[in-house]
Amino acid sequence: MEIKLQIDRFSPMTSDTSRTNTIKILLIDDDKDDYMLTKKMLKKTKMISATVQWVSSFKDALDACLHNSFDVVLVDYKMGTHNGIDIIRDSKKYNCNNPFILLTGIQDEQLGIKAIRLGAEDYLVKGEITPGLLEKSILYSLERYQVRVKEQELREKHILEESEKHFRSLIENSADGIALLNKEGIFTYITPSIKHILGYSQEEALKMNALDIVHPEDKTNYEKKFNELLKKKGSYTLALMRVKHKNGSWRWIESSVSNMLHDPHIQHLVLNFRDVTTRVKLQQLKDEFLSIASHELKTPLTTIKGYIQLLEKYFQKLDDQKALKYIHQSDIYVDKLNQLISDLLDISRIQSGRMLLHLEEIQLCPLIKKTVKALQHLSSKHTLKYTCTGNPKVIADKERIEQVLTNLISNAIKYSPEQCTILINLTKKQGFAQISVQDQGVGIPKADQKHLFQRFYRVENVVNKFSGLGIGLYISREIIERHKGRIWVESDEGKGSTFYFTLPLQN
Ligand code: ADP
Repeated sequence: MEIKLQIDRFSPMTSDTSRTNTIKILLIDDDKDDYMLTKKMLKKTKMISATVQWVSSFKDALDACLHNSFDVVLVDYKMGTHNGIDIIRDSKKYNCNNPFILLTGIQDEQLGIKAIRLGAEDYLVKGEITPGLLEKSILYSLERYQVRVKEQELREKHILEESEKHFRSLIENSADGIALLNKEGIFTYITPSIKHILGYSQEEALKMNALDIVHPEDKTNYEKKFNELLKKKGSYTLALMRVKHKNGSWRWIESSVSNMLHDPHIQHLVLNFRDVTTRVKLQQLKDEFLSIASHELKTPLTTIKGYIQLLEKYFQKLDDQKALKYIHQSDIYVDKLNQLISDLLDISRIQSGRMLLHLEEIQLCPLIKKTVKALQHLSSKHTLKYTCTGNPKVIADKERIEQVLTNLISNAIKYSPEQCTILINLTKKQGFAQISVQDQGVGIPKADQKHLFQRFYRVENVVNKFSGLGIGLYISREIIERHKGRIWVESDEGKGSTFYFTLPLQN
Protein backbone atom coordinates (compact mmCIF):
# COMPACT_ATOMS: atom_id res chain seq x y z
CA MET A 1 0.00 0.00 0.00
CA GLU A 2 2.99 2.30 -0.42
CA ILE A 3 2.83 5.11 -2.89
CA LYS A 4 5.97 6.98 -3.75
CA LEU A 5 5.66 10.60 -4.52
CA GLN A 6 9.10 11.44 -5.71
CA ILE A 7 8.94 15.15 -6.18
CA ASP A 8 12.41 16.31 -7.00
CA ARG A 9 12.15 19.80 -5.87
CA PHE A 10 13.59 21.88 -3.11
CA SER A 11 14.07 19.98 0.12
CA PRO A 12 13.51 22.17 3.15
CA MET A 13 15.33 19.94 5.60
CA THR A 14 17.97 21.50 7.71
CA SER A 15 20.98 19.46 8.75
CA ASP A 16 18.91 18.11 11.68
CA THR A 17 16.19 16.77 9.47
CA SER A 18 18.40 15.57 6.69
CA ARG A 19 17.76 11.91 7.35
CA THR A 20 16.70 11.85 3.70
CA ASN A 21 15.60 14.36 1.18
CA THR A 22 12.28 12.58 0.89
CA ILE A 23 9.87 12.98 3.76
CA LYS A 24 8.36 9.69 4.79
CA ILE A 25 4.74 10.09 5.79
CA LEU A 26 2.44 7.58 7.43
CA LEU A 27 -1.24 8.27 6.90
CA ILE A 28 -3.63 6.58 9.32
CA ASP A 29 -7.10 7.02 7.88
CA ASP A 30 -9.93 4.53 7.28
CA ASP A 31 -11.19 6.45 4.27
CA LYS A 32 -9.48 5.61 1.00
CA ASP A 33 -10.79 8.81 -0.63
CA ASP A 34 -8.97 10.87 1.96
CA TYR A 35 -5.83 8.98 1.19
CA MET A 36 -6.20 9.68 -2.56
CA LEU A 37 -6.83 13.33 -1.77
CA THR A 38 -3.78 13.60 0.49
CA LYS A 39 -1.67 11.92 -2.15
CA LYS A 40 -2.86 14.41 -4.75
CA MET A 41 -2.19 17.35 -2.50
CA LEU A 42 1.29 16.18 -1.71
CA LYS A 43 1.96 16.07 -5.45
CA LYS A 44 1.09 19.71 -5.64
CA THR A 45 3.36 20.88 -2.81
CA LYS A 46 6.18 23.17 -3.87
CA MET A 47 8.89 22.72 -1.28
CA ILE A 48 8.87 19.10 -0.22
CA SER A 49 9.03 15.65 -1.71
CA ALA A 50 7.31 12.90 0.19
CA THR A 51 6.42 9.23 0.23
CA VAL A 52 3.15 8.17 1.82
CA GLN A 53 2.35 4.86 3.41
CA TRP A 54 -1.34 4.49 4.01
CA VAL A 55 -2.87 2.27 6.69
CA SER A 56 -6.54 2.07 7.42
CA SER A 57 -6.62 0.57 10.91
CA PHE A 58 -5.09 1.00 14.32
CA LYS A 59 -3.53 -2.48 14.15
CA ASP A 60 -1.86 -1.79 10.79
CA ALA A 61 -0.64 1.53 12.14
CA LEU A 62 1.14 -0.24 15.01
CA ASP A 63 2.59 -2.71 12.58
CA ALA A 64 3.86 0.02 10.33
CA CYS A 65 5.40 1.87 13.29
CA LEU A 66 7.14 -1.27 14.44
CA HIS A 67 8.69 -2.05 11.09
CA ASN A 68 9.41 1.39 9.60
CA SER A 69 10.45 4.80 10.71
CA PHE A 70 8.50 7.81 9.52
CA ASP A 71 9.22 11.50 9.52
CA VAL A 72 5.60 12.55 10.03
CA VAL A 73 2.37 10.73 10.90
CA LEU A 74 -0.97 12.09 9.75
CA VAL A 75 -3.75 10.56 11.77
CA ASP A 76 -7.45 10.88 11.30
CA TYR A 77 -9.44 11.50 14.46
CA LYS A 78 -12.25 9.15 13.49
CA MET A 79 -10.75 5.66 13.39
CA GLY A 80 -13.52 3.28 14.45
CA THR A 81 -12.88 1.83 17.92
CA HIS A 82 -9.63 3.79 18.36
CA ASN A 83 -9.62 7.50 17.73
CA GLY A 84 -6.62 9.49 16.60
CA ILE A 85 -6.12 10.96 20.06
CA ASP A 86 -5.76 7.46 21.59
CA ILE A 87 -3.16 6.68 18.97
CA ILE A 88 -1.19 9.85 19.71
CA ARG A 89 -1.41 9.24 23.48
CA ASP A 90 -0.26 5.62 23.23
CA SER A 91 2.19 6.17 20.40
CA LYS A 92 5.33 5.96 22.57
CA LYS A 93 4.22 2.56 23.86
CA TYR A 94 4.05 1.32 20.27
CA ASN A 95 7.38 2.70 19.16
CA CYS A 96 5.80 5.58 17.19
CA ASN A 97 8.14 8.39 18.15
CA ASN A 98 7.17 10.76 15.38
CA PRO A 99 5.71 14.17 14.91
CA PHE A 100 1.92 13.70 14.69
CA ILE A 101 -0.58 15.84 12.84
CA LEU A 102 -4.20 15.17 13.75
CA LEU A 103 -6.81 15.42 11.02
CA THR A 104 -10.12 16.55 12.52
CA GLY A 105 -13.59 17.24 11.18
CA ILE A 106 -14.89 20.82 10.88
CA GLN A 107 -16.91 20.45 14.07
CA ASP A 108 -14.03 18.92 16.03
CA GLU A 109 -11.50 21.72 16.19
CA GLN A 110 -11.31 21.48 19.98
CA LEU A 111 -9.95 17.99 19.53
CA GLY A 112 -6.99 19.41 17.66
CA ILE A 113 -6.08 21.54 20.64
CA LYS A 114 -6.43 18.53 22.92
CA ALA A 115 -4.18 16.53 20.59
CA ILE A 116 -1.50 19.22 20.75
CA ARG A 117 -1.62 19.09 24.53
CA LEU A 118 -1.11 15.35 24.31
CA GLY A 119 1.95 15.63 22.12
CA ALA A 120 0.74 16.21 18.53
CA GLU A 121 2.68 18.91 16.70
CA ASP A 122 -0.25 20.34 14.74
CA TYR A 123 -3.77 19.67 13.54
CA LEU A 124 -5.53 20.21 10.27
CA VAL A 125 -9.25 20.51 9.69
CA LYS A 126 -10.36 18.14 6.96
CA GLY A 127 -12.10 19.92 4.14
CA GLU A 128 -10.00 23.03 4.70
CA ILE A 129 -6.70 21.42 3.78
CA THR A 130 -4.88 22.83 0.77
CA PRO A 131 -1.54 21.66 -0.61
CA GLY A 132 0.10 24.79 0.79
CA LEU A 133 -1.44 24.33 4.21
CA LEU A 134 -0.46 20.65 4.31
CA GLU A 135 3.08 21.46 3.27
CA LYS A 136 3.36 24.24 5.83
CA SER A 137 1.99 21.99 8.58
CA ILE A 138 4.44 19.19 7.73
CA LEU A 139 7.42 21.52 7.75
CA TYR A 140 6.26 23.25 10.90
CA SER A 141 5.69 19.89 12.64
CA LEU A 142 9.14 18.64 11.68
CA GLU A 143 10.80 21.76 13.05
CA ARG A 144 8.70 21.84 16.21
CA TYR A 145 9.38 18.18 16.82
CA GLN A 146 13.16 18.70 16.47
CA VAL A 147 13.05 21.51 18.98
CA ARG A 148 11.01 19.43 21.40
CA VAL A 149 13.37 16.48 21.09
CA LYS A 150 16.35 18.75 21.73
CA GLU A 151 14.63 20.30 24.73
CA GLN A 152 13.81 16.88 26.09
CA GLU A 153 17.40 15.74 25.62
CA LEU A 154 18.66 18.81 27.44
CA ARG A 155 16.15 18.26 30.26
CA GLU A 156 17.24 14.62 30.61
CA LYS A 157 20.90 15.60 30.54
CA HIS A 158 20.25 18.19 33.23
CA ILE A 159 18.39 15.64 35.41
CA LEU A 160 21.24 13.17 34.94
CA GLU A 161 23.83 15.79 35.85
CA GLU A 162 21.86 16.81 38.93
CA SER A 163 21.48 13.20 40.00
CA GLU A 164 25.19 12.60 39.39
CA LYS A 165 26.02 15.67 41.49
CA HIS A 166 23.68 14.45 44.21
CA PHE A 167 25.22 10.99 44.43
CA ARG A 168 28.77 12.29 44.12
CA SER A 169 28.12 14.66 46.99
CA LEU A 170 26.56 11.81 49.02
CA ILE A 171 29.61 9.63 48.46
CA GLU A 172 32.18 12.36 48.91
CA ASN A 173 30.63 13.55 52.16
CA SER A 174 30.15 10.11 53.63
CA ALA A 175 32.06 9.67 56.89
CA ASP A 176 33.03 6.17 55.81
CA GLY A 177 35.66 5.84 53.14
CA ILE A 178 34.75 4.53 49.70
CA ALA A 179 37.39 3.56 47.18
CA LEU A 180 37.88 1.77 43.89
CA LEU A 181 40.80 -0.61 43.53
CA ASN A 182 42.03 -2.19 40.35
CA LYS A 183 42.96 -5.85 40.29
CA GLU A 184 46.53 -4.99 41.28
CA GLY A 185 45.17 -3.45 44.50
CA ILE A 186 45.95 0.14 43.49
CA PHE A 187 43.50 2.90 44.37
CA THR A 188 42.00 4.54 41.31
CA TYR A 189 39.40 6.53 43.22
CA ILE A 190 39.05 7.38 46.88
CA THR A 191 36.72 9.71 48.75
CA PRO A 192 38.11 12.76 50.56
CA SER A 193 37.15 11.10 53.88
CA ILE A 194 40.49 9.23 53.61
CA LYS A 195 41.95 12.45 55.07
CA HIS A 196 40.10 12.23 58.38
CA ILE A 197 40.29 8.43 58.54
CA LEU A 198 43.98 7.89 57.75
CA GLY A 199 45.44 11.38 57.33
CA TYR A 200 46.37 11.03 53.63
CA SER A 201 45.14 13.41 50.94
CA GLN A 202 43.26 11.94 47.99
CA GLU A 203 46.30 12.56 45.76
CA GLU A 204 48.62 10.74 48.18
CA ALA A 205 46.25 7.80 48.50
CA LEU A 206 45.87 7.48 44.74
CA LYS A 207 49.57 6.77 44.42
CA MET A 208 49.36 3.87 46.88
CA ASN A 209 48.84 0.17 46.74
CA ALA A 210 46.49 -0.71 49.60
CA LEU A 211 48.87 -3.46 50.71
CA ASP A 212 51.64 -0.91 51.40
CA ILE A 213 49.84 0.49 54.42
CA VAL A 214 48.57 -2.78 55.93
CA HIS A 215 50.27 -3.90 59.17
CA PRO A 216 52.99 -6.54 58.48
CA GLU A 217 51.19 -9.08 60.73
CA ASP A 218 47.92 -8.61 58.83
CA LYS A 219 49.44 -8.69 55.33
CA THR A 220 49.14 -12.45 54.79
CA ASN A 221 45.48 -12.36 55.74
CA TYR A 222 44.90 -9.38 53.46
CA GLU A 223 46.61 -11.04 50.50
CA LYS A 224 44.70 -14.28 51.05
CA LYS A 225 41.35 -12.48 51.13
CA PHE A 226 42.27 -10.29 48.17
CA ASN A 227 43.25 -13.26 46.00
CA GLU A 228 40.14 -15.21 46.96
CA LEU A 229 38.01 -12.18 46.10
CA LEU A 230 39.62 -11.82 42.67
CA LYS A 231 38.68 -15.40 41.82
CA LYS A 232 34.93 -14.90 42.25
CA LYS A 233 33.09 -12.16 40.42
CA GLY A 234 30.30 -10.56 42.44
CA SER A 235 31.69 -11.90 45.73
CA TYR A 236 32.57 -9.75 48.72
CA THR A 237 34.72 -10.11 51.78
CA LEU A 238 34.85 -8.49 55.21
CA ALA A 239 38.09 -7.73 56.98
CA LEU A 240 39.41 -6.14 60.14
CA MET A 241 43.04 -5.12 60.05
CA ARG A 242 45.57 -2.58 61.19
CA VAL A 243 46.41 0.12 58.68
CA LYS A 244 49.08 2.81 58.94
CA HIS A 245 47.93 6.38 59.58
CA LYS A 246 49.96 9.15 57.96
CA ASN A 247 51.17 10.12 61.45
CA GLY A 248 52.75 6.68 61.84
CA SER A 249 50.17 5.19 64.25
CA TRP A 250 48.24 2.01 63.49
CA ARG A 251 44.44 2.27 63.14
CA TRP A 252 42.01 -0.63 63.17
CA ILE A 253 40.11 -0.49 59.89
CA GLU A 254 36.98 -2.49 59.23
CA SER A 255 36.32 -2.96 55.54
CA SER A 256 34.14 -4.71 53.04
CA VAL A 257 35.28 -5.21 49.46
CA SER A 258 33.10 -6.32 46.54
CA ASN A 259 34.46 -7.71 43.32
CA MET A 260 32.76 -5.65 40.59
CA LEU A 261 35.47 -6.18 37.98
CA HIS A 262 32.96 -7.86 35.69
CA ASP A 263 30.47 -4.97 35.87
CA PRO A 264 31.01 -2.87 32.74
CA HIS A 265 30.04 0.31 34.60
CA ILE A 266 32.45 -0.27 37.51
CA GLN A 267 35.25 -2.67 36.47
CA HIS A 268 36.85 -2.37 39.89
CA LEU A 269 36.88 -3.73 43.41
CA VAL A 270 34.66 -1.51 45.55
CA LEU A 271 36.02 -0.89 49.02
CA ASN A 272 34.08 0.56 51.96
CA PHE A 273 36.08 1.23 55.08
CA ARG A 274 35.87 2.88 58.49
CA ASP A 275 38.05 3.44 61.51
CA VAL A 276 36.97 1.18 64.39
CA THR A 277 40.06 1.64 66.57
CA THR A 278 38.04 2.86 69.57
CA ARG A 279 35.69 -0.11 69.35
CA VAL A 280 38.52 -2.64 69.00
CA LYS A 281 40.42 -1.09 71.92
CA LEU A 282 37.31 -1.25 74.11
CA GLN A 283 36.83 -4.86 73.08
CA GLN A 284 40.44 -5.61 73.96
CA LEU A 285 39.94 -3.94 77.37
CA LYS A 286 36.82 -6.03 77.94
CA ASP A 287 38.64 -9.24 77.01
CA GLU A 288 41.54 -8.30 79.26
CA PHE A 289 39.14 -7.63 82.12
CA LEU A 290 37.39 -10.94 81.48
CA SER A 291 40.69 -12.75 81.52
CA ILE A 292 41.91 -11.13 84.76
CA ALA A 293 38.53 -11.50 86.49
CA SER A 294 38.27 -15.18 85.53
CA HIS A 295 41.76 -15.88 86.84
CA GLU A 296 40.99 -14.08 90.08
CA LEU A 297 37.75 -16.04 90.50
CA LYS A 298 39.44 -19.37 89.85
CA THR A 299 41.80 -19.16 92.83
CA PRO A 300 39.18 -18.87 95.62
CA LEU A 301 37.04 -21.46 93.84
CA THR A 302 39.88 -23.98 93.88
CA THR A 303 40.21 -23.35 97.62
CA ILE A 304 36.45 -23.88 98.14
CA LYS A 305 36.68 -27.14 96.17
CA GLY A 306 39.55 -28.24 98.43
CA TYR A 307 37.54 -27.53 101.59
CA ILE A 308 34.54 -29.40 100.16
CA GLN A 309 36.73 -32.45 99.66
CA LEU A 310 37.99 -32.16 103.27
CA LEU A 311 34.41 -31.85 104.52
CA GLU A 312 33.42 -34.89 102.47
CA LYS A 313 36.14 -36.99 104.10
CA TYR A 314 35.20 -35.67 107.54
CA PHE A 315 31.52 -36.54 107.18
CA GLN A 316 32.31 -39.87 105.57
CA LYS A 317 34.08 -40.80 108.80
CA LEU A 318 31.01 -39.66 110.75
CA ASP A 319 28.81 -41.48 108.24
CA ASP A 320 26.51 -38.44 108.15
CA GLN A 321 24.54 -39.15 104.94
CA LYS A 322 22.51 -35.95 105.09
CA ALA A 323 25.60 -33.76 105.32
CA LEU A 324 27.27 -35.82 102.55
CA LYS A 325 24.24 -35.19 100.30
CA TYR A 326 24.51 -31.43 100.86
CA ILE A 327 28.24 -31.52 100.27
CA HIS A 328 27.73 -33.43 97.04
CA GLN A 329 25.24 -30.81 95.84
CA SER A 330 27.66 -28.00 96.70
CA ASP A 331 30.37 -29.82 94.79
CA ILE A 332 28.18 -30.03 91.67
CA TYR A 333 27.54 -26.25 91.81
CA VAL A 334 31.20 -25.47 92.38
CA ASP A 335 31.98 -27.56 89.29
CA LYS A 336 29.35 -25.63 87.31
CA LEU A 337 30.85 -22.34 88.44
CA ASN A 338 34.27 -23.60 87.56
CA GLN A 339 33.08 -24.56 84.07
CA LEU A 340 31.53 -21.13 83.58
CA ILE A 341 34.75 -19.40 84.55
CA SER A 342 36.75 -21.74 82.30
CA ASP A 343 34.43 -20.86 79.43
CA LEU A 344 34.94 -17.15 80.03
CA LEU A 345 38.68 -17.72 80.12
CA ASP A 346 38.43 -19.66 76.87
CA ILE A 347 36.63 -16.78 75.23
CA SER A 348 39.42 -14.40 76.07
CA ARG A 349 41.98 -17.00 74.92
CA ILE A 350 40.19 -17.39 71.60
CA GLN A 351 39.95 -13.63 71.13
CA SER A 352 43.65 -13.14 71.70
CA GLY A 353 44.68 -16.28 69.78
CA ARG A 354 46.06 -17.86 72.96
CA MET A 355 44.06 -21.09 72.94
CA LEU A 356 46.72 -23.77 72.67
CA LEU A 357 46.11 -27.44 71.89
CA HIS A 358 48.00 -30.27 73.54
CA LEU A 359 47.85 -32.82 70.77
CA GLU A 360 48.25 -36.54 71.35
CA GLU A 361 46.89 -39.73 69.84
CA ILE A 362 43.51 -40.50 71.40
CA GLN A 363 40.89 -43.20 71.03
CA LEU A 364 37.48 -41.63 70.83
CA CYS A 365 35.34 -44.53 72.08
CA PRO A 366 36.80 -44.67 75.61
CA LEU A 367 36.58 -40.88 75.74
CA ILE A 368 32.86 -41.01 74.90
CA LYS A 369 32.31 -43.78 77.45
CA LYS A 370 34.03 -41.77 80.18
CA THR A 371 32.12 -38.54 79.36
CA VAL A 372 28.77 -40.33 79.20
CA LYS A 373 29.42 -41.96 82.55
CA ALA A 374 30.35 -38.65 84.14
CA LEU A 375 27.28 -36.88 82.76
CA GLN A 376 24.64 -39.55 83.36
CA HIS A 377 24.37 -38.43 86.99
CA LEU A 378 23.28 -34.93 85.89
CA SER A 379 19.75 -36.12 85.22
CA SER A 380 17.83 -39.22 86.17
CA LYS A 381 15.12 -38.23 83.65
CA HIS A 382 17.44 -38.72 80.69
CA THR A 383 19.04 -41.93 79.46
CA LEU A 384 22.39 -41.50 77.72
CA LYS A 385 23.14 -44.23 75.17
CA TYR A 386 26.21 -44.46 72.99
CA THR A 387 27.36 -46.58 70.06
CA CYS A 388 30.89 -46.75 68.69
CA THR A 389 31.83 -48.23 65.33
CA GLY A 390 35.43 -48.87 64.31
CA ASN A 391 37.13 -47.34 67.36
CA PRO A 392 38.64 -44.42 65.43
CA LYS A 393 41.89 -42.83 66.56
CA VAL A 394 42.61 -39.16 66.11
CA ILE A 395 45.35 -36.70 66.97
CA ALA A 396 43.65 -34.26 69.27
CA ASP A 397 43.62 -32.42 72.58
CA LYS A 398 41.83 -34.92 74.82
CA GLU A 399 40.54 -32.38 77.33
CA ARG A 400 39.28 -30.05 74.64
CA ILE A 401 37.39 -32.83 72.81
CA GLU A 402 35.93 -33.94 76.14
CA GLN A 403 34.88 -30.32 76.67
CA VAL A 404 33.03 -30.27 73.31
CA LEU A 405 31.33 -33.59 74.05
CA THR A 406 30.36 -32.43 77.54
CA ASN A 407 28.92 -29.24 76.11
CA LEU A 408 26.85 -31.02 73.46
CA ILE A 409 25.55 -33.68 75.85
CA SER A 410 24.76 -31.16 78.63
CA ASN A 411 22.90 -29.05 76.06
CA ALA A 412 20.97 -32.13 74.88
CA ILE A 413 19.92 -32.75 78.50
CA LYS A 414 19.19 -29.08 79.24
CA TYR A 415 17.12 -28.45 76.11
CA SER A 416 15.07 -31.70 76.46
CA PRO A 417 12.82 -30.88 79.40
CA GLU A 418 10.78 -34.06 79.01
CA GLN A 419 12.08 -37.51 79.80
CA CYS A 420 14.05 -38.84 76.83
CA THR A 421 16.95 -40.86 75.50
CA ILE A 422 20.02 -39.07 74.21
CA LEU A 423 21.96 -40.96 71.57
CA ILE A 424 25.66 -40.48 71.10
CA ASN A 425 27.06 -42.11 68.00
CA LEU A 426 30.62 -42.51 66.76
CA THR A 427 31.46 -43.63 63.20
CA LYS A 428 34.15 -43.24 60.57
CA LYS A 429 33.28 -41.24 57.45
CA GLN A 430 35.53 -40.36 54.51
CA GLY A 431 38.75 -39.94 56.43
CA PHE A 432 37.05 -38.42 59.45
CA ALA A 433 35.70 -39.63 62.78
CA GLN A 434 32.14 -38.36 63.10
CA ILE A 435 30.39 -37.95 66.43
CA SER A 436 26.73 -37.06 66.78
CA VAL A 437 24.63 -36.17 69.81
CA GLN A 438 20.91 -36.57 69.21
CA ASP A 439 18.07 -35.42 71.48
CA GLN A 440 14.29 -35.19 71.26
CA GLY A 441 14.08 -31.79 72.88
CA VAL A 442 12.80 -28.34 71.96
CA GLY A 443 14.66 -28.20 68.64
CA ILE A 444 15.97 -25.10 66.90
CA PRO A 445 14.12 -22.95 64.32
CA LYS A 446 15.75 -23.06 60.86
CA ALA A 447 16.50 -19.34 60.83
CA ASP A 448 18.56 -19.59 64.04
CA GLN A 449 20.62 -22.60 63.06
CA LYS A 450 23.29 -20.72 61.13
CA HIS A 451 23.87 -18.30 64.04
CA LEU A 452 24.14 -20.88 66.86
CA PHE A 453 27.92 -21.01 66.83
CA GLN A 454 28.32 -17.26 67.23
CA ARG A 455 29.45 -15.81 70.51
CA PHE A 456 26.58 -15.14 73.00
CA TYR A 457 23.91 -16.32 70.55
CA ARG A 458 20.88 -17.86 72.22
CA VAL A 459 17.62 -18.83 70.52
CA GLU A 460 14.63 -16.79 71.61
CA ASN A 461 12.53 -19.85 72.55
CA VAL A 462 15.02 -20.83 75.28
CA VAL A 463 16.11 -17.47 76.69
CA ASN A 464 13.52 -17.25 79.47
CA LYS A 465 13.21 -20.98 80.14
CA PHE A 466 16.78 -22.29 80.37
CA SER A 467 19.84 -20.65 81.90
CA GLY A 468 22.95 -20.17 79.78
CA LEU A 469 25.39 -17.67 78.33
CA GLY A 470 25.48 -18.72 74.70
CA ILE A 471 29.23 -19.39 74.62
CA GLY A 472 29.50 -23.19 74.76
CA LEU A 473 28.90 -23.76 71.06
CA TYR A 474 31.14 -20.84 70.10
CA ILE A 475 34.01 -22.43 72.04
CA SER A 476 33.16 -25.88 70.67
CA ARG A 477 33.33 -24.62 67.10
CA GLU A 478 36.66 -22.94 67.76
CA ILE A 479 38.07 -26.16 69.26
CA ILE A 480 36.81 -28.36 66.42
CA GLU A 481 37.93 -26.00 63.67
CA ARG A 482 41.39 -25.79 65.22
CA HIS A 483 41.50 -29.57 64.90
CA LYS A 484 40.59 -29.12 61.20
CA GLY A 485 37.19 -30.67 61.80
CA ARG A 486 33.66 -29.36 61.24
CA ILE A 487 30.70 -28.88 63.58
CA TRP A 488 27.07 -28.43 62.53
CA VAL A 489 23.49 -29.03 63.57
CA GLU A 490 20.39 -30.59 62.03
CA SER A 491 17.20 -29.80 63.86
CA ASP A 492 13.40 -29.64 63.64
CA GLU A 493 11.73 -27.18 65.96
CA GLY A 494 9.67 -29.07 68.53
CA LYS A 495 11.12 -32.44 67.54
CA GLY A 496 14.75 -32.38 68.60
CA SER A 497 18.27 -31.69 67.41
CA THR A 498 21.35 -33.61 66.33
CA PHE A 499 24.72 -31.93 66.68
CA TYR A 500 27.59 -33.40 64.64
CA PHE A 501 31.31 -32.85 64.70
CA THR A 502 34.15 -34.44 62.79
CA LEU A 503 37.88 -34.87 63.43
CA PRO A 504 40.43 -36.00 60.85
CA LEU A 505 41.40 -39.63 61.39
CA GLN A 506 44.98 -40.40 62.22
CA ASN A 507 46.68 -41.74 59.08
P1 ADP B 1 23.92 -21.95 76.25
O1 ADP B 1 23.36 -23.33 76.24
O2 ADP B 1 24.69 -21.62 77.47
O3 ADP B 1 22.91 -20.91 75.93
P2 ADP B 1 25.43 -22.74 73.89
O4 ADP B 1 26.45 -21.96 73.13
O5 ADP B 1 25.83 -24.08 74.34
O6 ADP B 1 25.00 -21.81 75.09
O7 ADP B 1 24.16 -22.86 72.98
C1 ADP B 1 23.72 -21.72 72.26
C2 ADP B 1 22.24 -21.81 71.99
O8 ADP B 1 21.97 -22.88 71.08
C3 ADP B 1 21.40 -22.13 73.19
O9 ADP B 1 21.10 -20.98 73.94
C4 ADP B 1 20.15 -22.74 72.57
O10 ADP B 1 19.32 -21.71 72.12
C5 ADP B 1 20.71 -23.47 71.36
N1 ADP B 1 20.95 -24.90 71.61
C6 ADP B 1 22.13 -25.50 71.84
N2 ADP B 1 21.98 -26.84 71.98
C7 ADP B 1 20.67 -27.09 71.81
C8 ADP B 1 19.87 -28.28 71.81
N3 ADP B 1 20.41 -29.48 71.99
N4 ADP B 1 18.56 -28.15 71.58
C9 ADP B 1 18.00 -26.94 71.37
N5 ADP B 1 18.69 -25.78 71.36
C10 ADP B 1 20.01 -25.84 71.57
